[in-house]
This record gives sequence, structure tokens and C-alpha cells, in this order.
Amino acid sequence: METAIIDDRIMEELRDAVGGENVFDTIEERGCHSFDATQERSLPELVIRPHTTEHVARVVTIANRNSIPIYPRGSGTGLLGDAGYIRCGIVLDLKNMDKILALNVRDLTVTVQPGVLIRDLQDVAAKQKLFYPPGPGSAGFSTIGGNVAECSGGVTGMKYGVTRDYVLALEAVLPDGSIINTGRKTLKSVAGYDLTRFLVGSEGTLGIYTQITLKLLPMPQKRGTIISYFRDFHDAMKTSDSIQVENRILPRSIEFADMECIKAFGEVSEVTIPEGAKALLLIDVDGNEKNVTNDVSKIEGICRENSALKCEIVKREDERNSLWQMMKSVLPSLFKIATTEFSEAFCVPRSKVLEVLEKVYGLSATTSIRVAAFGHIGEGHIHLNIMSDKREDEVLIRGFIGKVVKEVVSIGGTLKAGQGVDDVKTEFVELELTDQEIGLMKDLKRMFDPKDIMNPGKIFT
Ligand SMILES: Cc1cc2nc3c(=O)[nH]c(=O)nc-3n(C[C@H](O)[C@H](O)[C@H](O)COP(=O)(O)OP(=O)(O)OC[C@H]3O[C@@H](n4cnc5c(N)ncnc54)[C@H](O)[C@@H]3O)c2cc1C
Repeated sequence: METAIIDDRIMEELRDAVGGENVFDTIEERGCHSFDATQERSLPELVIRPHTTEHVARVVTIANRNSIPIYPRGSGTGLLGDAGYIRCGIVLDLKNMDKILALNVRDLTVTVQPGVLIRDLQDVAAKQKLFYPPGPGSAGFSTIGGNVAECSGGVTGMKYGVTRDYVLALEAVLPDGSIINTGRKTLKSVAGYDLTRFLVGSEGTLGIYTQITLKLLPMPQKRGTIISYFRDFHDAMKTSDSIQVENRILPRSIEFADMECIKAFGEVSEVTIPEGAKALLLIDVDGNEKNVTNDVSKIEGICRENSALKCEIVKREDERNSLWQMMKSVLPSLFKIATTEFSEAFCVPRSKVLEVLEKVYGLSATTSIRVAAFGHIGEGHIHLNIMSDKREDEVLIRGFIGKVVKEVVSIGGTLKAGQGVDDVKTEFVELELTDQEIGLMKDLKRMFDPKDIMNPGKIFT
């Protein structure tokens, strides 16, 4: 932690603003808010847990007046190394703002506070036969505020899009403490510039969402699942291509996992994986009864045509749940099998996935680094865990990531997929964005936050 800037007077003001019971300065509370899902860690000076928009606005006003950094926080499951950016100041923990304020079945919308967990939101919608598709792997424990700030994606992104595609309106507290409302609670609104879209994915650098209105969809009638194992990742990629391009099927998800992931699953999952499997595809389709039955049987045929080692149509709900649970546990499983590990997500034009994977595996073969690849392959999303058993390999890994970023950007991909720009990739943002674009973005940040109090240091170096 850098030199403290919250003195007794400011502390008193903050306690008056939100109630002393919501202000925490013990080492235990600060410690619990000093890390996210990466290996980054640094202590804030204070943790505040607001209950209302007014609480948030009062804290931000005081912070702004005294130039105190503010770090909004949902569940702290982000993979961007946010905790590493903390330089004294206040972590604003929004988990107590966890109410579903209005579920409007006939309008197909829901308005929530930022601390609502994605899984709770999905469950409440499902009771009304409605569907909120963009659930990241962390859906069971991440908040909608964090998901909006990172524009999180999920396994259904290919068919249903990402968080951005569902945010209709926001109430947000700006860095000066004022409260704005952007967008409308309608399925379309184009009056003026799209401030809602601008705020989505801003990684807590422009303001704090205090209410979020989301679009919902009718729940699809039926879901079908196919699990297919391959001897080689090339066959898996060819299968994915054939499903989407040659056969024009739009599955709900095509999830890929490679050999290193399969090894890691062995440690945590009870799913039996056939001997010799070096890649797998977990494929979901949804829609009406007839289409799902047709698509499932066509996809099974396509997997077999592409030399699947084993392919099964999943019949029972509990089997489907175990398979998806296994896929969702991929990150935590991988984190168990290496000493030093970086987790990076990219997105490339889908026709380039195979080329990028070949380059990545080729690069890793020349070093002591191991790479595990998985992701929403049907949309070109590749997640790489870059691992080593030696702590001192961190520099090597960072260099490796740099090479992958250059490769990805040079073939038209993005270094930023699903979640924001982490500390390793920050220095490479300039490969993807021009000086003019970066200049414009920095001007906008200065306009919103002239004192740079909101998540300072994030996104740009
Ligand atoms: C096991 C695992 C699986 C994951 N799977 C995926 C995946 O499939 N797809 C994907 O995209 N991501 C995935 N992630 C990362 C995912 O993006 C985050 O888990 C999630 O979006 C962050 O939510 P959170 O509530 O934990 O936010 P935090 O980690 O607390 O915060 C994340 C960012 O949001 C900001 N923030 C939080 N709340 C607010 C608010 N109310 N207003 C403004 N800013 C705010 C914070 O300052 C920070 O910059 C995964 C993470 C894990 C650990």
C-alpha cells in the first residue's frame, strides 16, 4: 500500500455519509478485498459497503473532493489483475446492493442492483420462462455489476451475444458523485449518443453502475447436448467448422478443451474421458422440439465424419449438468496443476482459430512453458492458460504472452475478449488501437474523471 491518504477527518465524513457500520478498516476486511481471481494482491486503505445509490454518490463525492482512488468491486472474480492496481484508497464493495428491483414479464426486461449474482438473476428469470443468456463460467458467484463492467461473455455468446447486447439502461454514479440515467427501458432507443454502450465494458474507470436494466428472452423450449472426443485438436476444429459453415447450424454453444485441460479435468471431474482423447467439443443446441432433435442428430453425424474418437448424445439432465460443470471448472482445475500461471483470453476471426492454435502450440514446444487452450471456439474465442512449474518463469511467460498477442492482432484478432484488458496486455493495447483512438479514449476518460480517481491505472499505461 502506498502512503495513506484517508485521515481522521475524511474517515469521519465517510462514516457520516454511509453509517459507521458500513465502513471497514480492519486488516481482515482489507485483506479480503486485496485480491481477485488472478495472483495480484494489494491492500486498500478502507472497504465500504454501500446499500443505496445515495450511499455510493456520497462516498464518491467525498473521494473526489479529496482525490482518493475508488475501486468498485462485485465478487472479485475478475481475471484482470484489478487488485494489483490498488494504490491506497477505497474499495467500494457492492455486494450488499443485491436486489432484483423489477421483473417485467410482458416487457421482457428486468431491473437489478449491481450486486445481484448472475445465477440468481437467471434463476429468477427462468421461473417466468425467461432467459438471460450471457452467463460467464463464474455465473454462480460473479455479479451483474462486474459482468457489465467487463462486458462478460459466456458459452452462449455465438448465438446470443455478450452482456453488452442485453444492457438497455443504466443508473450510474459518475466520478464527481452525480447520478446519471442512460438509455431507456425499451428494446430500442437511439436518442443521442449511446452512453449506455460507452459505459458497458468500461472496467469501473468511468462510473459505478447502481441500477442495471437488462433485456430478457423467452426461454427456448428444448435443449440438446452432444459430447465428442477427438484424437487431435485439428479434428475438433474441422468439426466446429463443418457444423457452422458447411451445415449452417447455429448451436447455442461449441465449447473446446485441449489435452492439458483434459488432464486437469481428470483431477476434479467424475466424467469418464476415453483413453487417447486429446481434444473435446461440448456442443449445445436449443430451440423448438423438432429443430433440436434434427440438429442433435446432424451434429452427431458430423462429429463421426470428422473422426471423433467417441461421440454421445447426452440423454439425461444430470449428465448434461456434469459435463457443463466439468467445462466450467476448467479454470480452477488448471490453476491447481501449475506453480506459475497466467490466464489470457483472445478472440480471432473464427476462420483463423486453427492457425492461431498451431502457432501457440508451436511456440510453447520451444520452451519449458505448457499451454492449455479452451474456449467458446464457435465464436473464435480462445482462452489460454500459460503455465510453468517454476516460479521464476514468470518473465518467460509474460514474453510468451507478448508473442501471442502480436500474432493474434496481426491476423485481425483482438487481445481483449469477453473480459477487459489485464496488466500483462496493457502494454500491447497500442498494437490494436491507433494513437488517435487511444487519444480520444483518454480525452473521454479525462472528461468523465478529471482527477483520475476511478480505478486509476487501468486499461492504459
Ligand atoms: C472461474 C471463472 C470463470 C470465468 N469465466 C468467464 C467467462 O466465461 N467469460 C468472461 O467474460 N469472463 C469470465 N470470467 C471473468 C468474469 O468476467 C468475471 O468473473 C466477472 O465478470 C466479474 O464479476 P465480479 O462480480 O467478480 O466483478 P469484480 O471482479 O469484483 O470486478 C470486475 C471489474 O468490474 C468493476 N466493477 C464491479 N462492479 C462494478 C459496478 N457496479 N460498477 C462499475 N464497475 C464495477 C471492478 O472495478 C472491476 O474492474 C471468469 C472468472 C472466473 C474466476
